[in-house]
Amino acid sequence: MIINDLFFAKNILEQGELVAIPTETVYGLAANAFDAAAIAKIYQVKNRPQFNPLIIHSNSLERFSHWGIHLPESAMALAKAFSPGPITFVVPKSALIPDIVTAGQNTVAIRIPNHPIALQLLSELAFPLAAPSANLSGMVSPTSAEDVEAQLGSQIAAVLNGGKCGVGLESTIISFVGDTPKLLRLGGLSIEAIEQVLNLKLDTNALINNENPEAPGMLSRHYAPHTPLYLDAAELHLNEADYAEMAFIGFQKKHPKIIGSNQIILSERGNYAEAAQNLFAAIRQADALGKKLIIAELLPPENLGLAINDRLKRASVKG
Ligand code: AMP
Ligand code: MG
Repeated sequence: MIINDLFFAKNILEQGELVAIPTETVYGLAANAFDAAAIAKIYQVKNRPQFNPLIIHSNSLERFSHWGIHLPESAMALAKAFSPGPITFVVPKSALIPDIVTAGQNTVAIRIPNHPIALQLLSELAFPLAAPSANLSGMVSPTSAEDVEAQLGSQIAAVLNGGKCGVGLESTIISFVGDTPKLLRLGGLSIEAIEQVLNLKLDTNALINNENPEAPGMLSRHYAPHTPLYLDAAELHLNEADYAEMAFIGFQKKHPKIIGSNQIILSERGNYAEAAQNLFAAIRQADALGKKLIIAELLPPENLGLAINDRLKRASVKG
């Protein structure tokens, strides 16, 4: 059920049930982060592996501090510049957070979402919300209330409507546990923007090593549509007839050989933020065309192009 009543959502959450909530990144499947039984329902509904920890959300750093979760001094400049926003900080855990939230790790991931409805809801609640993306594990993340309703509507009490997500990619995750800030996930805030504020190079080793225990749950195959998605058409040895059976996701320009109505362009003006906002809806739309395969074009490897390419690679057959 899609609802607009924030206080109805608040009530459900206070009873230890799940509500999908809007954020600027993607819709989240939210539950009381202090309530282990409520959190267990998130894992169950998403069919999420238990080793994959959750991000917890609240509306201010002061509230996190009050719950014993502190940002180190080295993270403050980033928080000041970009929080609320699409950035998640991994820091030492507090005893108030049940082990199920952090998958048994002694660190916790925190974020302040930049969405007016999410911020108001969080400010009304006496607890933070754990909220992974509101999709079945391994599927495409939802960027509208309708996306969530279509996949999880029958399993959750309500989807709080907040319109289309403005950023459209999950948050960038940075660990502040070691000496150098470590990038654990590419996301809606670019590396360039982060490094400029920190005035240093991030440690990006965790991205290369998929088995890295510091970034659990970064599965190589994710965001997967039902239709096989390929990044490189050349390897498929296509003939002319095949093009009629293909869907295409491109950055700025259409593919010369594919039927116009089977093509989805992320940003005609070549804007990375616009492309990011449209990405997950484009994958859903291409999938819904029911073609034999989807070809997707990688973006230039800079700015949000890096995070978009990361999602496209995980959505592809090769992972
Ligand atoms: P999702 O909620 O689907 O966006 O996934 C959240 C991601 O955050 C997980 O897959 C982890 O990679 C990362 N994460 C959450 N908590 C931690 C943590 N304590 N340490 C490292 N990474 C974390
Ligand atoms: Mg997810």
